[in-house]
Amino acid sequence: GASRAAAGRNRAAVPGVRHIVAVASGKGGVGKSTTACNLALALSGLGLSVGLLDADIYGPSAPRLFGISEKPEMLENRMLKPPVRWGVKVMSIGFLVDPEAAIIWRGPMVMSALQQLLREVVWGDLDVLVVDMPPGTGDAQLTMAQNVPLAGAVIVSTPQDLALIDARRGVAMFDKVDVPVLGVAENMSTFICPACGTRSDIFGHGGARHEAERIGAPFLGEIPLHMTIRETSDAGRPVVISEPDGPHAAAYRSIAEAVA
Ligand code: ADP
Repeated sequence: GASRAAAGRNRAAVPGVRHIVAVASGKGGVGKSTTACNLALALSGLGLSVGLLDADIYGPSAPRLFGISEKPEMLENRMLKPPVRWGVKVMSIGFLVDPEAAIIWRGPMVMSALQQLLREVVWGDLDVLVVDMPPGTGDAQLTMAQNVPLAGAVIVSTPQDLALIDARRGVAMFDKVDVPVLGVAENMSTFICPACGTRSDIFGHGGARHEAERIGAPFLGEIPLHMTIRETSDAGRPVVISEPDGPHAAAYRSIAEAVA
């Protein structure tokens, strides 16, 4: 009915939040969440006030990446207070739902959870809210892209053809709902053997740059496939925090500078 249609089109601004930026990928496992978290931390490192909203209903990972085990506090007015790590306010759909149950969620349920995370959380004044989107370009993703007042989207892809084809679908999805693509980042790019220094392009190399050129979006840079990135993520202390002076932090910083 009319109310449902209205509820499905809530692109109203979130008070206090200046820019909402989606981090998206055409398929899972390409490093979207790793990029979203490190990007949020890098933006915070630039002196911006930043929030991270983990909206990946199928595999919420911000709590693990930020080493958060407690649930957010609910205030008297029923608003949720996001935990803060390294200056970033973090909310995850994983705090609210069991990801096992989320697999069968339908559009309206996804949307009401998402609207709750956007509008019933005390975000306070934020320069940027980074939204870690669920992977893919299905109904849930389209509804989200349509209902969140997004300033733009960052697309993460590996250099592999298969990932790029899906990334292209992601770009088309954001185009369809008039959300500008801020750029494409190539994750799991060149692997440099820590033992001998040999460079190997395990998933290929340069594909994302080429794809960005093709669609006329900025290329945001390459993040190498490196054990440190995985290990620091698993330890709940992302590389931008654990090795702020290292090359990986620099890669995320340059993405942050491009989207800030
Ligand atoms: P997605 O959100 O796209 O599903 P994740 O960010 O969860 O992907 O990453 C999938 C796995 O790959 C995780 O174990 C993560 O630590 C690892 N990973 C992501 N990016 C890199 C990278 N550049 N180098 C090494 N491991 C990575």
